[in-house]
Amino acid sequence: MYDIQTIFQTANPILNQMPYPMMILNPEGIVLAWNRQAEKTFGYCAEDVLGKFIPFIEEERTYFYKDLWQKIIHSADPLHLESITISTKKGEIVNTPITLKAFTIDNDRYIFCQFNLGSEEQQDLLSFNEFTSIRDGLESSFMMLSIDQEGLISYANNLFLKYSKWTPKRIIGKTFWQMFPQTPESSVVADAIWKSLQNGRQWKGEAEKITKDGQSYWVDLTAIPIFTSAKKPSNFILLENDITDKKRLQNRLEKIAYIDQETGLMNRYRLEQIVNTMISENHHFTFVYFSIDKFYSLKELYDDQAEQVLIQEFTQRMKMYFQDSSMARVSIDEFVVLTPLGEWFIQGFLTYLEQHPIYINNSTLPLSISGGITKYPDDQISFTHLMKASYAAIQKVQSEGGGSISSLTKADHKALHKKSVIEKRLLVALDKKDLKVLYQPQLDLITGKITTVEALVRWEDEEIGTVSPEVLIPIAEETGLINDIGSFMLEQACLQAAAWHRKGIDLKVSINSSVREFRDKNMVKQVRRILEDTDCPAELIQIEITEKFALEAEAETSIIQQMKQLQNEGIVFALDDFGTGYASFRYMQLLPLSQIKIDQTFISTIQYQPKSQMLIQGMIQFGKSINMSVLAEGVETQEQQDILTEFGCDAIQGYHISRPIEAKEVEKLL
Ligand code: C2E
Ligand code: CA
Ligand code: CA
Repeated sequence: MYDIQTIFQTANPILNQMPYPMMILNPEGIVLAWNRQAEKTFGYCAEDVLGKFIPFIEEERTYFYKDLWQKIIHSADPLHLESITISTKKGEIVNTPITLKAFTIDNDRYIFCQFNLGSEEQQDLLSFNEFTSIRDGLESSFMMLSIDQEGLISYANNLFLKYSKWTPKRIIGKTFWQMFPQTPESSVVADAIWKSLQNGRQWKGEAEKITKDGQSYWVDLTAIPIFTSAKKPSNFILLENDITDKKRLQNRLEKIAYIDQETGLMNRYRLEQIVNTMISENHHFTFVYFSIDKFYSLKELYDDQAEQVLIQEFTQRMKMYFQDSSMARVSIDEFVVLTPLGEWFIQGFLTYLEQHPIYINNSTLPLSISGGITKYPDDQISFTHLMKASYAAIQKVQSEGGGSISSLTKADHKALHKKSVIEKRLLVALDKKDLKVLYQPQLDLITGKITTVEALVRWEDEEIGTVSPEVLIPIAEETGLINDIGSFMLEQACLQAAAWHRKGIDLKVSINSSVREFRDKNMVKQVRRILEDTDCPAELIQIEITEKFALEAEAETSIIQQMKQLQNEGIVFALDDFGTGYASFRYMQLLPLSQIKIDQTFISTIQYQPKSQMLIQGMIQFGKSINMSVLAEGVETQEQQDILTEFGCDAIQGYHISRPIEAKEVEKLL
């Protein structure tokens, strides 16, 4: 018999060239040769196994192999076994097919063994071995659990045991699900992790877990399926990091960010989240908006402390009455309740408040509440629209004196809905520059010539049809889109004025403007840029402002400044709808105005009402006295034109001269 060294030294260079793990044993099962593939695949190096009894077959199993062994040794044929179980050096269990064949050298029998692992499986084994070495590193920094295919825990590292307070013996065989709190939210998470692993996918995220004695802790969790064959994961590894402190801080911050400190009610942001969740889960509910009537006058009647008492006492009563409903404070004096209860119950709150008055300095506070009710999903279907509709209902109540709770009519909801559709379509229209401009000529009564045209917006939407400026402008002002309309109109007006200018036609183009546009600090810069880009002389542009605008501008020096800067550029200003607002001598002095436009309501009655005539005469004289030119709007007949000429009016605009028309049509009138 050859000694091991000789066999090893002769056999191994040959065996090393083979793609399979291989070994040579003597009849007693002692390893005599062990190739490189075997080293790689099972983790044992030659020194580990040479001269030893097959190290990777468990002791008690060797008995089982004894008969088999004799059979192999005495047979000339190879024997193929579908699967033998081997434990690798790292302690992992691998099943592999094996081929065994006895051979003779100098009358001694030896056994040649080849592990028939496919290259793919060898790969898996390799990566598995690599993984186990990585695992050692992970073990020290993560809580780690190993789970079998049934979801039973087969291993937990020390860190895991320390956190979860389980003992190594007791945790083995417990289920994966037992590590999570038995709440619906946690079950959802645990099931998601399990499903992902079953499908061979990783799962990463935050999860709440519980210790053996039921204490909650939070972890950042990575769950990994482990493949030992290509098809199905054989087991799963969970790596966890404790994030309980971070979570606690987050909760505390959320509390501060989502709760109204004074009342403990949630704030508007939280309300929005809750409503959105309820909507996504299709819970039906009633959205109730409360506003304290004349809150600011109440505040003035009492001292600062009274305000606090009022808010707290009111909150108290709301909590008592609506009990389990969600409640929020959405502004200083406004509250929202989400309730499944009906309208009659909600309205009963006012009676409840009467029966439980709030006392301040031993006297009852004269508290009056207005409320707006909107139903989800019957009336409105989004948070914004629930808010808007309820607020509109409150405004209706308050305009009738307040002190009651009501809801909008179906028609109101329809109107509100239409408004939101217009808002949406307007965004599209602005984006696609789908708005159009018509020009309405103004006739100079002294020269008999058309010297100015007013640019008026027109919008015909392919989905919602024609939207008149009377509908469009207020909505645009409310949403802030008026600024976009403004710059679109200005650009178009400048392009048109410049085009006419190049043709030798100097027509002034007058555009309408809203006070909101002037609140934009960049207004002047933007106007300058458009004038430059379009090559339009500033003298050809006039801006119309309304009396309401003028009144607000008077109080805001920045607006006056911007107007004056534009005036310095050469732009002129006209006061639109004159006579319908509060004509104030102050703003007439303060604002750089060049023209007043008498509103059409005065002109329409000029023939029949001597009072109108006197008013118009007065307005014309007033305008002239402060050096402004005077234009009359809405002139529809020759008779009206004659009277206005006689009164000394400078210019007229109206259907009698022309309706608003396309730029090309304007040229024909010149
Ligand atoms: P406005 O500035 O007073 O414009 C005059 C309105 O009266 C125009 O209505 C015009 O078509 C109409 N009109 C003109 N002559 C006559 C007439 O002889 N008889 C009658 N019954 N009506 C006449 P439109 O175009 O529907 O505009 C309505 C309002 O919408 C405008 O009143 C203006 O306040 C606003 N608007 C229109 N375009 C714009 C714009 O581009 N920007 C802004 N901010 N507002 C605009
Ligand atoms: Ca106008
Ligand atoms: Ca007007």
